[in-house]
Amino acid sequence: MTKHIAVILLVALTVSTTGMWAQSMSAQPMSAQSRSMATDPETYALPPGLDQRFLDTTADPCVNFFQYSCGNFSKYYPIPSDRSAFGAGTLVYEHNQYILHTILEKAAAGGAERTPNQQKIGDYYAACMDTSAIDGKGLEPFKAELDRIAALKDKKELTPLLAHLQLLNVNAFVGIGEQQDFKDARNQIAAADQAGLGMPERDYYFRAGDAAETTRKQYVQHITNTMQLLGESESEAASDAQSIFQLETALAKVSMDITSRREPKNVYHMMALADLEKLNPMLDWPLLFSDARFPSITELNVTNPDFFKGLDALLVATDLKTIKAYLRWQLIASADSTALPKALDAEMFDFNVHKLRGTPEQQARWKRCVQVTDRALGEALGEVYAAQEFPPSSKAATLQMVRDIEAAMDQDLNTLDWMSPETKVRARAKLHAVADKIGYPDHWRDYSSLIVKRDDAYGNAERGIVFENLREIDKIGKPVDRGEWGMSPPTVDAYYNPSMNDINFPAGILQPPFYDPKASDATNYGDIGGVVGHELTHGFDDEGRQFDGNGNLSDWWTPEDGKKFDEKADCTVKEYSSFVAVGDAKVNGRLTLGENTADNAGLQLAFLAFLSDAKRKNIDLKQKQDGYTPVQEFFLGHAQGWCGKTRPEQQRLQVQTDPHSPREFRVNGVVRNMPEFGEAFGCKVGQPMMPPAKDVCRVW
Ligand SMILES: [Zn+2]
Repeated sequence: MTKHIAVILLVALTVSTTGMWAQSMSAQPMSAQSRSMATDPETYALPPGLDQRFLDTTADPCVNFFQYSCGNFSKYYPIPSDRSAFGAGTLVYEHNQYILHTILEKAAAGGAERTPNQQKIGDYYAACMDTSAIDGKGLEPFKAELDRIAALKDKKELTPLLAHLQLLNVNAFVGIGEQQDFKDARNQIAAADQAGLGMPERDYYFRAGDAAETTRKQYVQHITNTMQLLGESESEAASDAQSIFQLETALAKVSMDITSRREPKNVYHMMALADLEKLNPMLDWPLLFSDARFPSITELNVTNPDFFKGLDALLVATDLKTIKAYLRWQLIASADSTALPKALDAEMFDFNVHKLRGTPEQQARWKRCVQVTDRALGEALGEVYAAQEFPPSSKAATLQMVRDIEAAMDQDLNTLDWMSPETKVRARAKLHAVADKIGYPDHWRDYSSLIVKRDDAYGNAERGIVFENLREIDKIGKPVDRGEWGMSPPTVDAYYNPSMNDINFPAGILQPPFYDPKASDATNYGDIGGVVGHELTHGFDDEGRQFDGNGNLSDWWTPEDGKKFDEKADCTVKEYSSFVAVGDAKVNGRLTLGENTADNAGLQLAFLAFLSDAKRKNIDLKQKQDGYTPVQEFFLGHAQGWCGKTRPEQQRLQVQTDPHSPREFRVNGVVRNMPEFGEAFGCKVGQPMMPPAKDVCRVW
C-alpha cells in the first residue's frame, strides 16, 4: 500500500501466504497478552529438500500426490494458534524471523558503536516493543489528524485533507502514486487508482451466501467497535458504522473486481490531468497532487475512469457527517496496528485476522515488531541478514539454475507446434532480455534522512511511510533504476515484474527446503528449479505475454498465435475452476490463470533442465536412491515445497482474493498435466493424477 501503484505488477510466488498482509493488520488479543509477552523466541530448523517424515505412504500418489508427499507434514508442524496456515514456506519464514530477531535485539541493545543503520533498525524495533509507551499515549498520536477531520466544514475543503492522508497511506476514496508507464517502461508516471474499501475486495460487499452475509455483519460490528474506541457512544457508533458501510458499498459498486484488474488494458488509461478534473470535479486534482508532494504533472494513468466518474457522483450525494466518519474510520483502519493502543490493536486483530482468517491468537509481539521493522527498513535490516546468511555458493548455484532453465525455455520454444516461427523469434528476444536478480540488490537504499526515535513507535511508523512514499513519488519523470528490488532480502518469496522484465529471488527463499545444497540435484530442480521456471513463465502468461522484452505493453504476437494461446489458456481456466477449495468456494480459474500457467510451465521447464543436467552428469534415471528414482525425487521435491495446511477461513479468503491457487492444487493441478509424472509413479491413464491426453492442459 505504498505510493507505488502495484496495479498488476510484481507477480509473486507467495510460498508463505498469509505472511505480510495478515501480520501487518494484526493485533494483540488481551487473552494472549501475558503469554506472548513472556514467550522466549523459538526457532524452527529448516527441513531438508526431501523429508521422508512428511510422506504419507498409505496414500496412492496416482490418486492424490499432495497427500502422498505431504500427508504427514502437519503431524510434525500443526498450524500454530497464531497462524492461519502453516507450510514449508512458513517454516522458512519463521526461521528467518528468528534470525532477524537476533539481529534486531543486538541492534536494540544500543551502544555508541552502532552504525547509523543499526541505530535505526534497533530503535525502530525497540520502540515497537515498548507497549507501555504506546498504550500510555493512547489516541494522542492521531489527534492532529482527527482534529483536521473534525474541522472539515465544507466538501470543497476535502482535497488538501485527502492529500495529507494519502502521504500517510490512508487511501480514503482514492489512491494516488507512481508506476512505470505500461506503454513506455522507461517513463515513470503518476497514477490515480480506485481505493478506499475496508474489506479485502470489492466482491465482499455483494457476494451472496451465508458466509459472505456473516462477514458483512461482522464488518459493520467491527466499524462500530472501532468508532466506540474513538470515543463515540454506542448508538452514535452504530449509526456511523451503517453510513460508512453504505458509503463503502457504493464505492465498491463503481470499483473494478480483481479478476478484471489482471487485464493490463483495463487498468491503463492515460489522461490529461485537465480531463481527470472534468471527470471528477468534486476534487481539486492539481491541488491533490501538489499537496501530496508530487512533482508537477500534466498527464497520468487514470486506471479506472468509471470509478472516478462514480466517485464524483458519490461525493456530491454523501453528507459531510458521513464523509467525516468515513475518514476517521479509514485513518485508524489504515494505521500500523502495532502502533495502536491495546484495545484498538485487539479490535483490528479480531476482524482482520481472527474472523477473516480463522487465526485464534495474536502473534508474539517480537514477531510483529520484526515484521514492521522489515517493512520500514527492509534493506538496512536485509544488508545485515544477507551478509550473515547468504553464502556466495548459494548465489552461484542459483544463477546456474536460472541459466539452465532459461536455456531449457529457449530450446522448448523450438518444439512448440502451435506457435508460428515469427512469434517464436519475438518470444526468444523477450526471453533473452529477462534480467536475473538473485539474493539482494547491488546498491543498498539510503535511509539517512529517515529519523527513528526509540520512544516513538507511531512517529516512526508514520515517518517510515512518508519516507517510502516520497521515495516512490520522487521517481516520476526520472530514469528507471533497473537495479531496484520490490522485496527485502530476507523475504521468503520471489517475483517477476513485467515492466522491468526481471525475475527476482531474494536470499530468504534460497535455502532448504527450496534450495538444499545437501539434497540431490533432482530434488533441487523440482523445488527451486520449479520456482525459477515459475517466475520466468510469468513473462509469458496471459498478462506477462502482453509486455515485450523492454517491459512495454505491446502486442508482439501474430493474431493467429494470440488466438491459439487464449484457447490453450481456456483449458487451464476450466480445469482449475473445477477444483473445490472449501465448502461452496471453488478456485477462480480466471483470477488464478497467470499463476497456474506459471506453475505448470515452470515445472515443465525445470523438468527439461533437470533432464539435460542428468544427461550431462550421466545419471541413470531408473536407478533408485533412498527408495526413489531421480524422476520421482524431482516431483517429490516440487510437492514438498508446498507441504502444509490452511485454516478453512483463510482458504476461503484466499480463493476470493488471491491470484494463487491453494497449495494442494499447486501440486496436484500441475502433475496431472505432466504425463512424465504418471509414468514415473506407474499410474494408469484415467486415475486422478493421470487424466487421458484429451483432458491434459498445456499452454507452454
Ligand atoms: Zn507467481
